[in-house]
Amino acid sequence: MSGVFGAYSTSGRTVLEEVYLGLYALQHRGQESAGISWVENGRIAAAKGLGLLHNAIDQQKLSGKSASSAIGHVRYVPTDPTQTQNILPIGANYARGPVAISHDGYITNLKELSKQLEQRGAIFHSSTDSEALLHLMAQKAHMQPLDALVDALRYLEGSCAAVVLLEDMLVAARDPWGFKPLVIGKADGTYYVASESCALDIVGAKLLRDVEPGEILVIDSKGPRSLRMAPDKHCNRCMHCSFEYVYTARPDSIIDGCSVYEARKKMGRLLAEKSPASDADIAAGMPDSGTIAAIGYAQRSEIPFEMAVVRNRYVGRTFIQPTQKVRELGVKIKLNPISDVFMDKKAVIIDDSIVRGTTAQRIISMIRNAGASEVHLRVASPPVLHPCKYGIDTRKEGTLAAVKMSIEELRKNIGADSLSYLSEEDLVEAIGLPEDQLCTACFTGKYLPENNS
Ligand code: 5GP
Ligand code: SF4
Ligand code: MG
Repeated sequence: MSGVFGAYSTSGRTVLEEVYLGLYALQHRGQESAGISWVENGRIAAAKGLGLLHNAIDQQKLSGKSASSAIGHVRYVPTDPTQTQNILPIGANYARGPVAISHDGYITNLKELSKQLEQRGAIFHSSTDSEALLHLMAQKAHMQPLDALVDALRYLEGSCAAVVLLEDMLVAARDPWGFKPLVIGKADGTYYVASESCALDIVGAKLLRDVEPGEILVIDSKGPRSLRMAPDKHCNRCMHCSFEYVYTARPDSIIDGCSVYEARKKMGRLLAEKSPASDADIAAGMPDSGTIAAIGYAQRSEIPFEMAVVRNRYVGRTFIQPTQKVRELGVKIKLNPISDVFMDKKAVIIDDSIVRGTTAQRIISMIRNAGASEVHLRVASPPVLHPCKYGIDTRKEGTLAAVKMSIEELRKNIGADSLSYLSEEDLVEAIGLPEDQLCTACFTGKYLPENNS
């Protein structure tokens, strides 16, 4: 997963600081690197670096620059985080002018594509999906850049939410299945595209709509216009990633017309209806990802909600040496239950998902040590049973707790008095989109048919 952002001012004012702010609001989508690209004297210019946005890019240096159109990227890559050539946006000045690409997603036919491109002379500098798009464009140098881009997008399979900067335009494209979110917003004469609407809020832009699956949105001095990817790529079935609503997205975002906050709260409400913990004294969420579902659970079951587990909000932002002591502390570095709240209480704990089960096991033991007499765990999504073939998540099947154990075995393993999950039907109902518009494959195994992907 990654976060993409782009801005185009039709009045010619500079947008660089807004791109920085937009990326700041998308930091949760990637912490490994950040970059901003714009056009300066007809060539691509960029500010990039490793780590969080404020470490990666010096905001002061940006303030001396001016560009009426720019794109940015925050990247989450568990492997090779130190490879600076993989920092996006990727930029180049090819025969037809400058181009920079930010991309969120995973091109499933990247290997084949790269091989074909290399055979035709392309030299790859990075292992990013975006570079393949760049080479595809460069090999169509007889076409106008926009035509070459539209042509190149045709070859991509998998998930893709891309923002592309050309000399005089900004282009946003979303794959025909709509796996990854992408929205368009506007404030005065400036158009914005972003992975999530929370990034529009920070620049004071109004959310106009989602970029449609299979849409290529072109923004230039005349405003936005819409093209479609090749007709054979268009379909009625969508695959909006349901995990965005469960965990990935920020709760203040609206994705494909559905509020992430409302979806999470309803997940909690439905969980309370189907899996009550009737004699619990308190309900608490596992911060931050389980908190909103816990509010829904508590409201529906009329059990008092307590902020009983405290999260160190700087974890993940500061670097702590992984010494033996730190490894032993594990989850304790991040989460701490409040003894006074848990003492002699029957507690129902709500978390967004269980992946490996490590977090649940550690936190339940900590809550018991904090004095709780019973700990019931409710999970606001179905068991994660399958890998994501769309590259959105890199979990390995063999590490998934719900694959290795039955629910009863898992309950014993994590030390809960009871354990229940949200059903697939309730997940779909909570999000509010029709089932055939959602991808639930990591929960249900319902992947796209092979010849369709
Ligand atoms: P686990 O069961 O693997 O110990 O931890 C699961 C928790 O990690 C979930 O409650 C959720 O908040 C979070 N989580 C779920 N999926 C991901 C992911 O893809 N990346 C990260 N960093 N955290 C995740
Ligand atoms: Fe999202 Fe899961 Fe589908 Fe992957 S398999 S796109 S993580 S819902
Ligand atoms: Mg969590």
